[in-house]
Amino acid sequence: MPTMKKKIIIAIDGYSSCGKSTFAKAVAAKLGYIFIDTGAMYRAVTLFAMRNGLTDDPEALAERLPEVRIDFRFDPETGHSDVYLNDENVETEIRRIDVSNRVSGVSSIPAVRAKLVAMQQEMGRRKGVVMDGRDIGTMVFPEAELKIFMTADPRVRAERRYKELIAKGEEVSLAEIERNIRERDRQDETRAVSPLRRAADAVVLDNSGMTVEEQMRWIDLRLAELE
Ligand code: C5P
Repeated sequence: MPTMKKKIIIAIDGYSSCGKSTFAKAVAAKLGYIFIDTGAMYRAVTLFAMRNGLTDDPEALAERLPEVRIDFRFDPETGHSDVYLNDENVETEIRRIDVSNRVSGVSSIPAVRAKLVAMQQEMGRRKGVVMDGRDIGTMVFPEAELKIFMTADPRVRAERRYKELIAKGEEVSLAEIERNIRERDRQDETRAVSPLRRAADAVVLDNSGMTVEEQMRWIDLRLAELE
């Protein structure tokens, strides 16, 4: 296994539900790095907007952003970090489909992006982080030492997300999930601010037919190339 003597920033971008977080978490654990799920931050702001009736009013939401405090806290019982919105653990609530349906709209608001990008840059200041999102390699850390762009077939992604939500007891259909994934892809790729795109120097990982173990062997090779 590569030792990575010098701490680096690993930026992982890509489409919705292609296993970015699972992969990023495993890479962070392997290197002893901090994992930062930036999608969870956009979801937390979306939840704040929904609770306060602000999803259709970008200006009012922008004005209330100073009230939004987001942080990650490690849960020793699960071994994962949960996202907190104003001191409330919202890790489960932000994954609901109604939040998923609104998050692309909220994350296209420039003031929301400015706040969260600044927070993310601060979180990665000391390096030793694996950050996953849509604009990490292009906007948040354009100088990241390793940039990965993840993709997978939309149908494969919908099936994976469907299984996850059904296991959590949510009542959803596969067709609804696939629609949500395709719509989020479209919105993420076409928005005016920080659209989802591959950084010129990012390596592509299409994991449609790959197991997590295969993806870990793939990252070992990428890390070895950096040493
Ligand atoms: O990664 P996840 O699917 O949880 O992200 C939810 C949504 O947050 C994405 O569909 C995208 O609209 C937005 N997002 C973003 N920029 C990021 C991370 C997520 O715009 N860096």
